[in-house]
Amino acid sequence: MDWNGALEHSFEEAKPSLGKGAVADYIPALAGADPKAFAMAVIGVDGAEASIGDDTTAFSIQSISKVFTLTMALSARREKLWKRVGREASGSPFNSIVQLEHERGVPRNPFINAGAIVVTDTVVSDHSGNAPANEILGVVRQASGNDAVRINNEIATSEETWGDRNRSLAYFAKSFGNLENPADVVLKTYFRQCAIEMTVRDLARAGLFLTSGGKDPLTGKCFLTRAQSNRVNALMMANGHYDMSGDFAFRVGLPGKSGVGGGILAIAPGSCAVAVWSPGLNSAGNSLGGTVAMEAFTDCTGLNVFSDKTPRASDYRE
Ligand code: GLN
Repeated sequence: MDWNGALEHSFEEAKPSLGKGAVADYIPALAGADPKAFAMAVIGVDGAEASIGDDTTAFSIQSISKVFTLTMALSARREKLWKRVGREASGSPFNSIVQLEHERGVPRNPFINAGAIVVTDTVVSDHSGNAPANEILGVVRQASGNDAVRINNEIATSEETWGDRNRSLAYFAKSFGNLENPADVVLKTYFRQCAIEMTVRDLARAGLFLTSGGKDPLTGKCFLTRAQSNRVNALMMANGHYDMSGDFAFRVGLPGKSGVGGGILAIAPGSCAVAVWSPGLNSAGNSLGGTVAMEAFTDCTGLNVFSDKTPRASDYRE
């Protein structure tokens, strides 16, 4: 089987689920997405690519941006980062505030909103004087190899207008001394990073460094050390889908990160990066059709980190 065959199979399997989930409606700018839209792309460590569906439509990556801010924070702060944010599954919705009080302002992991806000705070500190959101965008552009990746200002403004829950989380963390910068400054950056838009092809490309020990296998650009890259993958596996992370690991078997825009990025270490987009969400805010497609993809390719027979990228081409 080649990548194209795997994507065709994944799309077919996802079709009955398209239009079934609920599109994110916490901001008007996302509520208008077509719940039947679908796109998927894969890129191998050797650069071979394939895509299917609406693969030229840029969508809002939302929480998938947390992978890139974590990459920046981990490479700058190293082990010190773990004093500010934990590594455990939250078992709670992505925007829950309950645990934060119990754990005295140290969020459970970097992928729930509170944790991501703390991670973004480190990026803001480390790029003071510059526009930190542009620094994040710069890293995403570099990883994706596409300078046309942009921040959607309408979505960023909408996030800000309807961002009271995130505001609560940020001020709460600040009250425990876990933000170095004013909460509103950190939030502004967080809202902008969530509004980064790109296609599934850009997203798969942007995740490729995580397949190869933190180093882009095509350009040689180093984003993380191998140990750091392994850890980002571990966190994606344990926490990338909020309180349905266990379900994603069970069904798909790859580290993955979702966003409420309907995107999912999954990493098959040593082999390929896969991105899918389908805006209908399940109850935990993860793409319904996208998860089905990812499940079908790993099922038919055998790319599953828990398998004793993980094939190589070259096994999938004619
Ligand atoms: N912008 C969204 C929020 O902060 C991101 C959440 C997500 O994608 N799960 O609520």
